[in-house]
Amino acid sequence: MRQAEKVVEHPAVWFQASACSGCVVAVLNGAAPTIRDLIVDQLAPGRHVSLRFQQTIMAGAGEVALELLAAAEEGGEGYLLVVDGALPTAAGGRFGLAAKQGAHTTMHARGLELAAKASAIIALGTCASYGGIHAAAPNPSGCVSISEALREAGIEKPVINVPGCPPHPDWFTGTVAAVLLGGTGGGQEASSCPTDRLELDVVGRPRRFFGRLLHDLCPRRGDFEAHKFAARVGDPGCLYELGCKGPWTHADCPEREFNHGVNWCVKAGSPCHGCVEPFFPDVSCPIYEKIGLAELPRLVRDEAGGLVAVARPRVGDR
Ligand code: SF4
Repeated sequence: MRQAEKVVEHPAVWFQASACSGCVVAVLNGAAPTIRDLIVDQLAPGRHVSLRFQQTIMAGAGEVALELLAAAEEGGEGYLLVVDGALPTAAGGRFGLAAKQGAHTTMHARGLELAAKASAIIALGTCASYGGIHAAAPNPSGCVSISEALREAGIEKPVINVPGCPPHPDWFTGTVAAVLLGGTGGGQEASSCPTDRLELDVVGRPRRFFGRLLHDLCPRRGDFEAHKFAARVGDPGCLYELGCKGPWTHADCPEREFNHGVNWCVKAGSPCHGCVEPFFPDVSCPIYEKIGLAELPRLVRDEAGGLVAVARPRVGDR
């Protein structure tokens, strides 16, 4: 008789900060794997995600649920922390409160506390990755991404950004699976730093999902080259004149498609809004107006580790 293979348990904690819940809904609607597969079955051969805390789907509530979170924190085994949403910092963080056993604290403080004990962090969605809608100008609540909060607090942790408003569920589950597997296939021992095993771009995204320009993958690219532009949303033709940000956006939406491979923004007749890019939505506004390619920023990190826009890309520039 074949001996049962040992399954490695990977504890995970999901922290929801200032968010619209769209990222949670996106992951819950994942079809392959489903959320049930994700938390019940092995996500990768011999690897199981032991989700200890996720306030939207867990059966427990109140102090019972918070006890589970505290147990994960005190377990000393490290956990994969999923952060969903931005962290409000203005006015002492009071724009976003979080529960802690017997007390209330701020999302900012609690997020940092959980992050400090995590072995690695996945920032799920554009708000967690770069601030997103919650950090849009004038950003009265002072929202920042988890990376920015960690940097300001002087805490060093590996962070993988999985942006999107919302992100494709595959981007999330694929990233989790890559972290569990060591990024190089089954059977290999994981290194101590998950981001070593995933090739990330300059803004911390896995290249396997965000490594190519959406414009290069778009089925309407021929229309762009032929200067056949749509006059109205929903018309055939390239949507560039209607504000499409595909020439600047890095994501595989045209190949992967949302709703289990059914559709994506341009296929539905809407311009791409560039929702996976840092400084979205500010840099994409006005959403439905053409922003000349020469006006679009290119993003890099400055010496202090902060993101800055420094150049003007051409179509196809990566
Ligand atoms: Fe496709 Fe938008 Fe590029 Fe036109 S501008 S080819 S619609 S991505």
